[in-house]
Amino acid sequence: YIEIDNLSLSFGQNKVLKDISLTIEKGELITLLGPSGCGKSTLLRVLAGLETFQEGEVYLDGEEISEVAPKDRNVGMVFQSYALFPNMTVYENIAFGLSIKKLPKKEIKEKVMDALALVNLEDKADYYPDQLSGGQQQRISLARSLVTEPKVLLLDEPLSALDAKIRKQLQMDILMLQKKLGITMIFVTHDQEEAMILSDRIFVMNGGVIEQQATPAELYSQPKSQFVASFIGNYN
Ligand code: ATP
Ligand code: MG
Repeated sequence: YIEIDNLSLSFGQNKVLKDISLTIEKGELITLLGPSGCGKSTLLRVLAGLETFQEGEVYLDGEEISEVAPKDRNVGMVFQSYALFPNMTVYENIAFGLSIKKLPKKEIKEKVMDALALVNLEDKADYYPDQLSGGQQQRISLARSLVTEPKVLLLDEPLSALDAKIRKQLQMDILMLQKKLGITMIFVTHDQEEAMILSDRIFVMNGGVIEQQATPAELYSQPKSQFVASFIGNYN
């Protein structure tokens, strides 16, 4: 469903992604796990079509990504900071994602309210972002990316700014939504425990390389390298 063949990407002299190959099935929840600076966000940005790369091929649903216009890629993205527009209501923030589609007002309203229902915040439609908690704001960000019904949802450390309890709750919400909608998700984190809980498979990255791609259980019992062992070993 997503396929990357021998991808390499440099910023100037700095080779940030080194010969990366992977495939991801439709409906899988993958986490990219690895230390700061290892290339997680860059890889995600490649999949969103936001970075140009020097070598390799990237296919989304069978099509080479550079040949699909950004608006037709059907890829949603959620970031660590909520990136909501402060001067727009929750409703307007979510509807904004639909505005390029030129839909009738009634249809927009239905879609926005459906997206709000998915994250259980129907009653907050007329609130402004600063009237919501961090967890609620991140739920709205999630609703805003889901409203366009993306085939792939990319989440770049969406929970790292939240405190532990809210974070656990949102992990469960994301997992539930992912199963319910059957959406393919790639979730970036540097939290081993979060990766273990959420993932169908974990891709462990280090210095621009994917060291191992495996299920949480396999990673734990059969780490391929010292690095993977020590990185996963921190979990407990
Ligand atoms: P973190 O966990 O801290 O978010 P990351 O794994 O997401 O780290 P990236 O943001 O992908 O790491 O960055 C990987 C490397 O690429 C870093 O060395 C970074 O400095 C470099 N880099 C990222 N974006 C750019 C850019 N636009 N121009 C130059 N170098 C960049
Ligand atoms: Mg990052």
